[in-house]
Amino acid sequence: MHDFDTDGHRARKRFGQNFLSDPNTIRRIIDGIRPQAGERMVEIGPGLGAMTAPLIERLGHLHVVEIDRDLIARLRETYPPTQLTIHEGDALKFDFASLGGEEEKPLRVVGNLPYNISTPILFHLAGFAEHVKDMTFMLQKEVVMRMVAAPGTEEYGRLSVMLQYRFRMGRLFDVPPGAFRPAPKVMSSIVRMAPLPPEELGAQDEALLGRIVTAAFGQRRKTLKNTLREFVGEADFDALGLDPGLRGEKLSVAQFVAIANHCSARR
Ligand code: SAM
Repeated sequence: MHDFDTDGHRARKRFGQNFLSDPNTIRRIIDGIRPQAGERMVEIGPGLGAMTAPLIERLGHLHVVEIDRDLIARLRETYPPTQLTIHEGDALKFDFASLGGEEEKPLRVVGNLPYNISTPILFHLAGFAEHVKDMTFMLQKEVVMRMVAAPGTEEYGRLSVMLQYRFRMGRLFDVPPGAFRPAPKVMSSIVRMAPLPPEELGAQDEALLGRIVTAAFGQRRKTLKNTLREFVGEADFDALGLDPGLRGEKLSVAQFVAIANHCSARR
């Protein structure tokens, strides 16, 4: 495994470590986040602290979740506990609800996420949407394009539907590999996610919605008639006003919700 020495720290590939080093990009991200003094915020994977320092400067206090012990030791030496609360461990297992999320102070989540675990982290975080005000992430551009994709496009899939069901999403801007050390092989993008109000979500059984979406995109070339056989038959397609000859990538989030609710009602 080829590791890369950055500021005295050997960047670890297994933790997806590419550290932001371009001051202009860091400033643009912080401007996009607009941290306000006193807000409750958590940064996932602070690393060498490229974003941590300007965030603490604006907020006064920040929570971080970091897995790499060497980086944790550096952060402890740099910031007193009054400015930085360090949660040592795996963000995939972290209980974000434990950071509060009282109505008057919902949680803001930010991070230049490790690309090797970006999809599981997004699904893990989606489970805490009710505690969250917004999330701003840097991710591989290709993943961000899938997150924000519209129905009928090549990038549209399970990730698009399940995240757009719960969040309003927007891509802010792209970041080239040269902004990091070591430079990743791919372009990155910044994405903003704001949870939709619960009354706008609409699925009576979210686990069922998840199963239907997974099935619909499980076999890309197949029509809904085949992929959703387990859930809906011909009469259901008629009742829903849907063409069983369509493929999953043509359906809007609202249409997936309608299928799920039709199945819930029938049970
Ligand atoms: N935020 C820093 C920056 O912008 O320079 C570092 C970004 S680097 C792409 C990803 C960071 O996430 C690293 O610090 C890495 O150690 C940390 N990390 C990787 N896997 C993690 C996990 N499962 N839980 C928490 N942190 C993780």
